[in-house]
Amino acid sequence: MMWDVIVIGGGASGLMAAGRAAELGARVLLLEKMGRVGIKLGLTGKGRCNLTNGGDLPSFIESYRHNGKFLHNVFSRFFNDDVTAFFQAQGVPTVEERGRRIFPRSNRAQDVVRALREYASGQGAKINIHAPVLQILAKEGKVRGVRTEIGVVDSKRIILATGGASYPETGSSGDGYKMARDLGHTVQPLHPSLVPLVTAETFVKDLQGLSLKNVRATLFSQGRKLEEEFGEMLFTHFGVSGPIIFTLSGAAVEAMAKGKVEMALDLKPALSIEQVETRLLREFREQSRKQIANIFANLLPRRLGPVFLERAGIPGEMKGGEVRSAERKRLVHLLKDWRLTLLRPRPIEEAIVTAGGVSVKEIHPLTMESRIVPGLYFCGEVIDVDGKTGGYNLQAAFSTGWVAGETAADSL
Ligand SMILES: Cc1cc2nc3c(=O)[nH]c(=O)nc-3n(C[C@H](O)[C@H](O)[C@H](O)COP(=O)(O)OP(=O)(O)OC[C@H]3O[C@@H](n4cnc5c(N)ncnc54)[C@H](O)[C@@H]3O)c2cc1C
Repeated sequence: MMWDVIVIGGGASGLMAAGRAAELGARVLLLEKMGRVGIKLGLTGKGRCNLTNGGDLPSFIESYRHNGKFLHNVFSRFFNDDVTAFFQAQGVPTVEERGRRIFPRSNRAQDVVRALREYASGQGAKINIHAPVLQILAKEGKVRGVRTEIGVVDSKRIILATGGASYPETGSSGDGYKMARDLGHTVQPLHPSLVPLVTAETFVKDLQGLSLKNVRATLFSQGRKLEEEFGEMLFTHFGVSGPIIFTLSGAAVEAMAKGKVEMALDLKPALSIEQVETRLLREFREQSRKQIANIFANLLPRRLGPVFLERAGIPGEMKGGEVRSAERKRLVHLLKDWRLTLLRPRPIEEAIVTAGGVSVKEIHPLTMESRIVPGLYFCGEVIDVDGKTGGYNLQAAFSTGWVAGETAADSL
């Protein structure tokens, strides 16, 4: 049988593309290599799925580390309000939270998966699972079908929606990059983005699992300030993770490729250095007989205190009244500027998003069609676009999927 459109990959973008193309009358076959569609989508937002963001178009464009402008056209056709209206119509109302992040009101990513799956199959797309695509076939410069484990399936329109190379156990193991390359596309080097970072300091192991709220982290590359973020982070057995680390990780990964990168932690960002010093002076004066370990138990999270004092070289048994000026200054300095040396990101498999991918120069921004192979369309993370946390990656997947499905069907 000859299909009008074949979609490779049943993730966020592929399901949207398949549904939209079928809605417009195309006979659509979606091939998914795993035993079910939307496995990664079901993990998003810690199982809650931050499906988009309430920000305006300019703020969106700025929220991608690479090629945000490329998305301008697709966002003009299908944007965040279209996404929320779409899910509302599929029985998944949404709510907006802090940072304008939008989630399903049910707090269940599985509801988003179900809605997309039902949209695609409800519009008539046929979904085959356990159906890995091995190769896209082309003849005389145009696509003509795909090779699967059980044979060749013909179609003049192929939508490549295989996702990135992160979390490969979800099925997104980077297959699409090779398929695109084999057809002559340039694939920009892949890097982990939104990824935990490994530190040189091994004391982080003692703090594993400790989450710090309302701290500021600033990146320095060879002494030059790069970026800063305020919010929540987490210590792990190898280094640092959590929301602000993910946000900084793109810049950190790029800088680490060039040289030494440090991260300065400000544990008291609401206070100036002078205010921290005044506060410590007062604490030490008022609690001159109390051990400094106990004083710090009220100033820092309980588990952090002992590690912090050790780094400052101050014995915890020292009494408040015994702290000399130089020691107090050391404590103030460490509270405001605790340096960690960043060694490398964790591997791409542990990244939330893959940076790099099929070059946007070779994709038409209005249609998502290849500029090299007519009939080939791209959507989702396989494209060289990567967003910050906050719903930007899924919005990019939904928008590019919608437009790829629409234009593939329109070309019938
Ligand atoms: C833990 C985690 C949490 C995240 N949370 C958020 C969040 O809250 N908000 C947000 O915006 N983004 C989030 N993301 C990122 C977001 O999930 C991805 O950017 C998005 O899923 C990309 O959509 P996609 O359709 O391109 O790829 P995917 O959703 O990864 O889907 C690709 C599909 O293609 C299939 N496939 C691959 N190769 C083949 C092949 N050869 N043949 C057939 N099928 C194939 C895969 O099995 C998979 O089903 C998160 C990512 C992770 C890992």
